[in-house]
Amino acid sequence: MALEIYFAAPSVTDCPHEGSKLLVNVIDYASTESRVNMTKKIIEKVKPRHLMLDCGGNSLHEAEAKSNEIWSDPKGIAQERFNLSPENIIEYSLKIQPDTIFSLDFPLQKRKAKKEIQNEFNRKLQINIEWAQETSNLWKRHCSHMNLIIPVQAQTMENFEWFMEELAAKNVKFTGISIPSRNIDSDLLVRFLIRLHEMQIPWVHLLGSTRLSYMTILSYFSKHKLFKKISMDSRTWKVSGTKGKYLHPDNLNQFKFTDFSEYILARLSKKCSCPYCKKLSLDNSQYQLSRILCSHNCLVTENLAEKLYRNATSLDKLEKYVLRRGTVGQRVKQAIDALGMVGNVLN
Ligand SMILES: [Zn+2]
Repeated sequence: MALEIYFAAPSVTDCPHEGSKLLVNVIDYASTESRVNMTKKIIEKVKPRHLMLDCGGNSLHEAEAKSNEIWSDPKGIAQERFNLSPENIIEYSLKIQPDTIFSLDFPLQKRKAKKEIQNEFNRKLQINIEWAQETSNLWKRHCSHMNLIIPVQAQTMENFEWFMEELAAKNVKFTGISIPSRNIDSDLLVRFLIRLHEMQIPWVHLLGSTRLSYMTILSYFSKHKLFKKISMDSRTWKVSGTKGKYLHPDNLNQFKFTDFSEYILARLSKKCSCPYCKKLSLDNSQYQLSRILCSHNCLVTENLAEKLYRNATSLDKLEKYVLRRGTVGQRVKQAIDALGMVGNVLN
C-alpha cells in the first residue's frame, strides 16, 4: 500500500480536497461544543476517507515549554490551565467519531547533552506508559471500532526498546505505533522502523512532518511491504499556503509567491499537474491566492508521495530519483544512506 498522507489543521475556509485523509486534534477540534460543530462542518465539506484524532500532545509540549501549569484531571478542560486526561480523549473521540485515535502522551522536550536526553526520558516514561495503558483500556471498553495509535516517546535506540518493552510488560493493546518526528533524524527513524517491523507492528505513523527525507524513507518501507500500513501527516500545506507560499512539486521546498511569481508562473506551475495552478495569476486577490496555494500544496504533497513510492522498487532507483529533485538542505543523501540498513531485513 502506498504511503498515506493525512492533512492536518483544516478549517472551514481552508480544506484539503474532497475525499482526502484528515488529522485533527482533540483540543482545537473536539474540546468544546462549538469546536465539535466546526469539525462537523469540515467533515461535511471534505468527506474524509479517513479521520484521525490526535491526542493534543503538541499542545501539551507547548504548554510545558512555556512553563504553564499542566493538569490531567478527567473532569474536563479548564480554561486557565492545560488539562487533558485519557478520559477526555475518549469522551471527545465519541463526539467526533474518528476512524483513528491517539493515546495521550507527554512529548519529550529537545535536549542536547546525552545525560539530559536520558533524564527527560526517565522523567516522562512512567506517565507515558500509564496514559497509554489507561487510553487503551478505555478504548477497548468504549470505542474499539476505532483504531488506536500509541506515540513512542524516545530519542535513542535504547530508550525506544525500553518504551516498547514497558508497553508489552503492561500488555497494552493498540492498532499501531506513531513516531513523533521532532528530536529524531533519518538514521534513528530507519532504526526505529526496522525494529517495529521485527516486532510485527502492522501500522506506523510518522507524526508531524512531510519533509522529503522522511517521505523517501517511508516510501521505501511502504514499497517493500514491511508494514501493512504506513502514514504521515502534513501541516505545511496550510501553514505555507495561508502565508502565500507555493510548494515546489518536485521536493516541497517553499517559494513565496510574491517574490518568485515569475519563476512559479513561467516554470513550476506549467509542469504541475494539479488543476489549481491554472488559476494562479498576478491578479489573484490575497484571499484567492491563499485558497489556490493551499489546494496546490495539498495535491503536490500527495503526488510526491505517490511518485516516491513508484520509484522505491530499489534503493538505486530511489536514490537517483530523489537526489535529482532534493536540495542539499533537505538532507536526502542522509536518508538514502540510512536506508542502506534495510538491506539486511529484505534479504
Ligand atoms: Zn499545482
